[in-house]
Amino acid sequence: MNTDLLLSHLRNIPDFPKPGIQFKDVSTLFIEPSCLNEILDELVRLYKDKGITKVVGIESRGFVMGAILAQRLGVGFVMCRKIGKLPGETRKQSYLKEYGEDVIEIHTDAISPEDVVLIHDDLLATGGSMKAAIDLVDSFGAKNIYVNFLIELRMEGLKGKEFLGNKAEITALLTLNE
Ligand code: AMP
Repeated sequence: MNTDLLLSHLRNIPDFPKPGIQFKDVSTLFIEPSCLNEILDELVRLYKDKGITKVVGIESRGFVMGAILAQRLGVGFVMCRKIGKLPGETRKQSYLKEYGEDVIEIHTDAISPEDVVLIHDDLLATGGSMKAAIDLVDSFGAKNIYVNFLIELRMEGLKGKEFLGNKAEITALLTLNE
C-alpha cells in the first residue's frame, strides 16, 4: 500500500470540533480517486480470503469505504446508525461517551448467526463507538467478527485497541502518533 500517497492527502484540522482535538479529515482522501483505489485495493487484499459475508459500516464516514468494499467482495452492506434513524425493527447497544450516553442500532434482520462480519469505520480513537458496534454485532451471534479502520490514532493515554478486547481481529491501514 502507498502509505505516503494516503498521508499526503489526509487533512488535519486543529481544534475541531473543539479546542485541543486534531481532527483527521478523511474527506480529502475520499475526494481523490487515486486514494479511493489505494484504500480499496488494500482492503480487498486484507479481506478477500476471510469468508466475509457482510460488511457493517459505522455512521457516517464508515459508510463510504464500507459500501464500496462490500460491493467488491460481493457481499451485503449493513448500516450501523445512531438511534432513531433506521425505520425497521432494530437491535440496540448503548455506550458511554465523554459527555453522557449514546446508542447505536442495526436492523434485526440484517445479520444472522451464519454471517462472518467485517465492521468498518474511518478512525479509532478511544474505541468506545467500535466496542459498542462489536458487542452489537456479537449479540446477533455472528460466526466471526473482523474490525477495520482507515486510521488508528495513538495518543498518550489513549488505549483504543486494548479497549476493543479480543472478540475481533483488528486492522488499521494507517497508524498516526499524535
Ligand atoms: P472513538 O469512539 O473515541 O474511538 O471515536 C471514533 C469515532 O469518532 C470515529 O467514528 C471517528 O470518525 C470520530 N473521531 C474521533 N476522534 C477523531 C479525530 N481526532 N479525527 C477524526 N475523527 C475522529
